[in-house]
Amino acid sequence: MHDESAGVAGVNCTSFSCSPLIMNTRAWLEKLVSFDTTSRNSNLDLIETVRDALLAQGVQAHLSHNAERSKANLFATLPAHDGQTQGGIILSGHTDVVPVDGQTWASDPFTLTERDGKLFGRGAADMKGYIAASLALVPEFLAMPRAKPIHLAYSYDEEVGCVGAPVMLAELKARGLSADGCVVGEPTGMQVVVAHKGINLFTCKVHGRAAHSSLTPRGCNAIEYAAQLICRIREIADHFKANGPYDDLYDVPFTTMTTNLVKGGIAVNTIPDLCEFTYEFRNLPGMSPASVQARVEQYVRDELVPRMRREFEQAEVEIQTGAFAPSLEASEQDAVTALVRALTQDSATRKVAYGTEAGLFQDVGIPTVVCGPGHIEQAHKPDEFVAIDQLETCERFMRKLGQSLA
Ligand SMILES: [Zn+2]
Repeated sequence: MHDESAGVAGVNCTSFSCSPLIMNTRAWLEKLVSFDTTSRNSNLDLIETVRDALLAQGVQAHLSHNAERSKANLFATLPAHDGQTQGGIILSGHTDVVPVDGQTWASDPFTLTERDGKLFGRGAADMKGYIAASLALVPEFLAMPRAKPIHLAYSYDEEVGCVGAPVMLAELKARGLSADGCVVGEPTGMQVVVAHKGINLFTCKVHGRAAHSSLTPRGCNAIEYAAQLICRIREIADHFKANGPYDDLYDVPFTTMTTNLVKGGIAVNTIPDLCEFTYEFRNLPGMSPASVQARVEQYVRDELVPRMRREFEQAEVEIQTGAFAPSLEASEQDAVTALVRALTQDSATRKVAYGTEAGLFQDVGIPTVVCGPGHIEQAHKPDEFVAIDQLETCERFMRKLGQSLA
């Protein structure tokens, strides 16, 4: 049996040479951080290492790959003691991390480094610490007489718009597997987050007609029409700000909408035939993203394109859906919400600005909350870290979660 006191700071194993059977959270974190799983890279080395470590403990993992087979999600079930694989709780985390490009770090971002009770490394907080704790607990989970299974779900490409998790959820559906609840371990300081906004990203291409800039009536200026649409998007945003709906538990208590990238034009004396821009909106749970997007599309269809076509018959506006992460609003009635609240002794209602994969699990009928070690303020920055005591709190949380399924 594991010694309860042999936590993160314990001495039983902190090097790569240890058997995967006895790697503690810190050793796992050291290992996971050593893989540069920036979203643009493959995560297969990490995933295959985890798969092999699980297999060495008798746990078979299912991988679901992207189309190019350069990345994979991993889903593994630790069955209940009677072999049951349905139900139970999913511990979920993403394996990719944001780039370190242009950042100055005090130590190598891919070498876990301890200073002042903190472990520094890219992904330490977001969110390899949570994955490390879940892997370290596997031997204990397996030794517990559990009435319900525990599932491990590790995704790819979360940071570029929750691209991997839907592939994993489709694979679960195909296998007919479901769970009673899910805990997404994004860094919340081990407090319970029950809601976040949805993220919806769109790319818009406005196609006009080029002409010499001295001959304006012969052209159709794509930048000018894009500007009209961008202003319209701002008006919709202002409408939400002025009229709600509102939820004061968020930093910004209404749905936001903003244009953040614009590209267009080739020369100072040429009327541009193309202008491309991206806009996003972050909807409150309960506000349908489709209804927000419909306002944009209605303006394009009924006003903008007809105006453009009076100048140029083939004028066109194309809108493509980009990254998308649905909002989360956990119910206090759900068993997983009550369980995580009980295990963390946290009854506060917290709603956050950032998006996670939690809404995707919720959308396929798996009640989900967000709770993980570290703090979002420490994520994505140079010198990202997770405090050792946060990892220890996370380990205790997972151990109690396992025991609660006994
Ligand atoms: Zn994250």
